[in-house]
Amino acid sequence: MRNLNGIRLSHHKKSKDLATVELPLPKTVTIPMLQHMGAGCKPLVEAGDVVKVGQLIGDSDEVFSVPVHSSVAGTVTAIQDYVASSGKTEKRVVIEVAEIQETIDAKPHPVSDQKSLVEAARLSGLSGLGGAGFPTHVKLNYKDIDKVDTLVINGAECEPYITSDYREMLEAPDDIIGGVKEVMRCLKIANAYIGIEDNKPDAIKLLREKIDVDNIHVVSLKSVYPQGAEKVMIYHSTGRVIEEGEIPADKGVIVLNISTVSHLYRFIKTGMPLTHKRLTVDGNFVDKPINVRVPIGTSIDYVLDFAGVDNNKADKILMGGPMMGIAIYDVETPVIKNNNAILVLQEKDRKYKASRTVSTLSPSVTEGTDNPEDAAKGPASTVVGKELVPPTTACIRCGKCVYVCPVDLMPAALEKAYDKKNVDSLKNLKVNLCINCGCCSYICPAHRNLAQKNQLAKEMLRKMKK
Ligand code: SF4
Ligand code: SF4
Repeated sequence: MRNLNGIRLSHHKKSKDLATVELPLPKTVTIPMLQHMGAGCKPLVEAGDVVKVGQLIGDSDEVFSVPVHSSVAGTVTAIQDYVASSGKTEKRVVIEVAEIQETIDAKPHPVSDQKSLVEAARLSGLSGLGGAGFPTHVKLNYKDIDKVDTLVINGAECEPYITSDYREMLEAPDDIIGGVKEVMRCLKIANAYIGIEDNKPDAIKLLREKIDVDNIHVVSLKSVYPQGAEKVMIYHSTGRVIEEGEIPADKGVIVLNISTVSHLYRFIKTGMPLTHKRLTVDGNFVDKPINVRVPIGTSIDYVLDFAGVDNNKADKILMGGPMMGIAIYDVETPVIKNNNAILVLQEKDRKYKASRTVSTLSPSVTEGTDNPEDAAKGPASTVVGKELVPPTTACIRCGKCVYVCPVDLMPAALEKAYDKKNVDSLKNLKVNLCINCGCCSYICPAHRNLAQKNQLAKEMLRKMKK
């Protein structure tokens, strides 16, 4: 690992000074039973049931799963099948929203040690809110917790446009600090580092002013993409390197997203699970960006309507940032826990390829093509409207992809190995270390879909159990 070269992107953080507004209640919400990495939940309600805000409506016995709660009060009208991003058919609960919103009788959930913290994280319904969707309780349940001495809080928010975490820092700094202290106390962690890119000086200043202990440090990080990638964040905050096959806890570090830790604190204090999510709605097709608090399960269509965006005229709609976001083809898609932005783009932002728009990980984003490899050749199937990405030409061996790769891979060689289906070479070149940041695809003057090929390669190795 070395200091990050990465890429310098225009920040486009036009929404940074816009306080969070509340979305008016939609008429219905559709709440997926799988909103996290791991196993989906079974619905605990059926059509005709009346539910309250915060009520548990889905759960699972699997360790690698996260309970799901209702974001509204209303009546369940249907339990539907849908194809989740895992490729599996899962369930989702459709709720007609009532006029009067009744909330569960929530009680504070004090924590004192690892066991109670893990239980609180699970009951809160939290999975990594930065976008990864990793179950928070699994992360906190590391078996050799005595070896963990460092908590890293990821406040980088390094993708263009998105200011959801930034608003959390400005609007709820006490919850962030409270959450950090609770995690440190329960896990007996000596030091915490809150990593924030230096394009957010207000947030850095505010948190530094608010912190009243000397073992929580705010680290100002260079604004370079992908500063928020977990391994990059750990290296730049602590100097520790996470090797292939290791998780951060193996090196004594637990990493939590900054909104995750504040939501955890709010659950501890109130007992109210995660029901709403803040989203940034922006993009070059959005006249008036907003930060908006949305009930989970609300359709993207409804949120865009509130933001005054005519999505019929947009070229591309992304859930997430322009580098790692997922292009959506159905505006009825519901908002889930780990969504932090809806970006609406027009052709002038050709540079952004959104690395996951052709992912095999999400059947929804390869809609329209029979073969994901066809999708990796170009973006045609994934966009709402016109094609955004220029045509691919031959590699000119400029080495730019190697220079920008944050984990020191050789993307051009990986692409060649994948094209030849050379499994040994893919393993030798350590394709599984790829974090799918998209830097290589972004920088490549030949417009090669390098990051996408890596996703396909990893999927191929996974299927071969290599
Ligand atoms: S950036 Fe593109 S053109 Fe340059 S070496 Fe990498 S793949 Fe080849
Ligand atoms: S090879 Fe992977 S980690 Fe490296 S720049 Fe490309 S997408 Fe990012």
